[in-house]
Amino acid sequence: MKQRVEIVKRIMDSNEQLAQQNRQKLDQNQVFAINVMASPGAGKTTFILQTIKGLPENMRLGVIEGDTAPVTIDADKITAAGMPAVQINTGGDCHLDANMVGLAIDQLDLQDIDLLLIENVGNLICPAGFALGNHANILISSTPEGDDKPYKYPNIYRGIDVLIINKTDLLPHLDFNMDYFREGVEILNPGLKTFAVSAKTGEGFDQWLAWLEEKVSENQA
Ligand code: MG
Ligand code: ZN
Repeated sequence: MKQRVEIVKRIMDSNEQLAQQNRQKLDQNQVFAINVMASPGAGKTTFILQTIKGLPENMRLGVIEGDTAPVTIDADKITAAGMPAVQINTGGDCHLDANMVGLAIDQLDLQDIDLLLIENVGNLICPAGFALGNHANILISSTPEGDDKPYKYPNIYRGIDVLIINKTDLLPHLDFNMDYFREGVEILNPGLKTFAVSAKTGEGFDQWLAWLEEKVSENQA
C-alpha cells in the first residue's frame, strides 16, 4: 500500500510540473485558458458553442476537445463554428492530464489566441485531480443530473472557480430543488461564482460572458 501511495504521488508530482510548463507557455503568449469539466451529457460542447457565439468577434479563440474515443463529433462541431480545434483522444482514459494538454497546446498557434477553451472528458471524479495549467476551472452541472451532485461529488466542487448550472429551461419538468443544490455548493466552496444558464436557448449567458471577457482582458493587461 505504501508503495502504491508513493507511485501515485510521483505521477501527481510530474503532472504538476507539466501543468506549470503549460501555464508558462500560455502566459508567455497571454492566452487565458479555461478547463471545462462536467459529467457526460451535461452540455459541455453546446455550452462552448454558445459561448463562442456570444463573445466579441475580435476575440481570438482556440479549443481543445478531450474525448475518450477517436470520434470527432464534438471537435467537428467546433471547427464548423470556424474555430481552430485540436482533439485529444485519451485512448479510453477518463480525464485529461497535463501531458496531453501540452501536446495539444503545441499544435495551436498560441500567439493568435486570446482565450483557450479546454473541454475535459465527461467525468466528475478524476478530472478534479489533474492540473492542466489552465487559469480557471469551470464545472457545468445540468439540472437533469439532480440536485444532490455537490453532496455526492464534493471534490470537484471544491476545486472550481466557476459553476455553471445548465439546462435551466428544463426546470419546470424536474424535481430539482435549487436551494438544496446551492446549499450543498456553498458548504464546499463558499461564495463560488455561479451562473444559471440554458446553453440551448442562450438564456443567462450575458453575465457569464461578461465575467469571461473581463478575465481575458485582465490577462492581457
Ligand atoms: Mg462534448
Ligand atoms: Zn480519469
